[in-house]
Amino acid sequence: MEEAKHFIGGRATAPASGESIDVIDPSDGEVFARIARGDAADVDAAVRAARAAYDDAWGQTSAAERGRILSRLSLLIAACGDELARLEARDTGKPLREARADAAALARYFEFYAGACDKLHGETLPYQAGYTVMTVREPHGVTGHIVPWNYPLQIFGRSVGAALAAGNACVVKPSEDACLSLLRVAALAAEAGLPDGALNIVTGYGTQAGAALARHPGVDHISFTGSPGVGTLVAQLAAEHHAPVTLELGGKSPQIVFADADLDAALPTLLAAIVQNAGQTCSAGSRVLIERAIYAPLVERLSAAFDALRVGPSALDPDCGPLINARQHRRVAQFIADAERDGVRLAAQGKIVAEAPRGGFYQAPTLFIDVAPQHRIAQEEIFGPVLAAMPFDDEAQALALANGTRYGLVAGVWTRDGARQLRLARRIRAGQVFVNNYGAGGGVELPFGGTGQSGHGREKGFEALYGFTTLKTIAIRHG
Ligand code: NAD
Repeated sequence: MEEAKHFIGGRATAPASGESIDVIDPSDGEVFARIARGDAADVDAAVRAARAAYDDAWGQTSAAERGRILSRLSLLIAACGDELARLEARDTGKPLREARADAAALARYFEFYAGACDKLHGETLPYQAGYTVMTVREPHGVTGHIVPWNYPLQIFGRSVGAALAAGNACVVKPSEDACLSLLRVAALAAEAGLPDGALNIVTGYGTQAGAALARHPGVDHISFTGSPGVGTLVAQLAAEHHAPVTLELGGKSPQIVFADADLDAALPTLLAAIVQNAGQTCSAGSRVLIERAIYAPLVERLSAAFDALRVGPSALDPDCGPLINARQHRRVAQFIADAERDGVRLAAQGKIVAEAPRGGFYQAPTLFIDVAPQHRIAQEEIFGPVLAAMPFDDEAQALALANGTRYGLVAGVWTRDGARQLRLARRIRAGQVFVNNYGAGGGVELPFGGTGQSGHGREKGFEALYGFTTLKTIAIRHG
């Protein structure tokens, strides 16, 4: 059985403790690999390797040369796309076509950030006579990246791609539930010519390796993607040494559908937004708010679509794969049971295919209708394929419902009325609002992040580069 090691200082490195963690295939619940169980000693070795690379190699590499190396990495990722996708599908359980899209997105992130390396610059500022004042954007130094299991390749791409482009050396702590694809990417980075130590990966549990990374005084910036509760802990640990933190947390994102919307265009997008990755997506469209005039017919169409969904193992290329682990499986099932107990109407459910192995973590996608704002499934992130449909009577009520959770990640607005599109786009509390689409195809160019309990800071796009740099002002008095 494969026993994966950390990637530290440019090479596969055994954990200091000699201990490992079993990796479970969500499709059948069987152990199929082992990963190194990292602890504070491994994190310390990785941070030292990153510091040395930052001081002597990567931090001294010109922006254009950084771009060339990241560009080579992008090409290598694209060439190995199928291999990476198969690893990701096995590790996360997601359908292979979704994992292929993730691998393609990873290549695109490195392509985008490769091109951005030599376009990041400061400004000169008007000041008193006799002065020249400029700003320069400098890397933080060593950046720590704590990554969840739902989209390891994509989240690595947007976070580490931008950090490396800005000139930082990185230490990554992927999720213990899905990290094999990232270890392969680290090997590809070495092949692309990334200096040893510029990218390090320490696997292990969050409470051990993750916490050790967040509190390590040698880490100059932490980028955390995960749940709000752990995000709070990570921010507290980083605050012990005043490291800035970017938090990409959860969501309870609404899609608002008005009676004048193009329903044929909206329907497949409403469905995909909650079924993709079995709903284990921070930006999942988990609430659909529907204008009352079209509530009954749209609910009927959604119900038919949910009933037709097939859930199964990745190899069968189903509409929806299993959930990531037994804990998540129990958690999502509990949300559904609690909602039914509270009298919420379950309108439709997909089917688990007969070929699905018994030990897998399968959950049929579920549509609840007539959900009230105070119901738990209207407020809490379930992180599973569960959609809550709610009617509204007018724009003001739609806005109040949309803004009526502690989250603020993404929103979708479906209407042909241009003035209404703009009004809502401006008044919805969310990091991104999509009008007559949802997610804009995942565009790597588009800044992404949240407000409220969804976190702060922006990743993706050029904006991410600002987050991975610190601004220095240089004032020269020359008379
Ligand atoms: P999680 O918070 O349990 O784990 C995320 C990462 O943090 C993992 O690598 C984990 O090992 C580590 N971790 C756990 N405890 C830690 C600790 N005490 N100290 C340091 N690190 C620790 O989240 P998850 O279950 O892996 O992912 C699901 C969550 O992530 C959901 O809430 C989802 O919305 C969120 N998410 C957000 C985004 C976004 O961009 N906003 C993207 C993907 C996922």
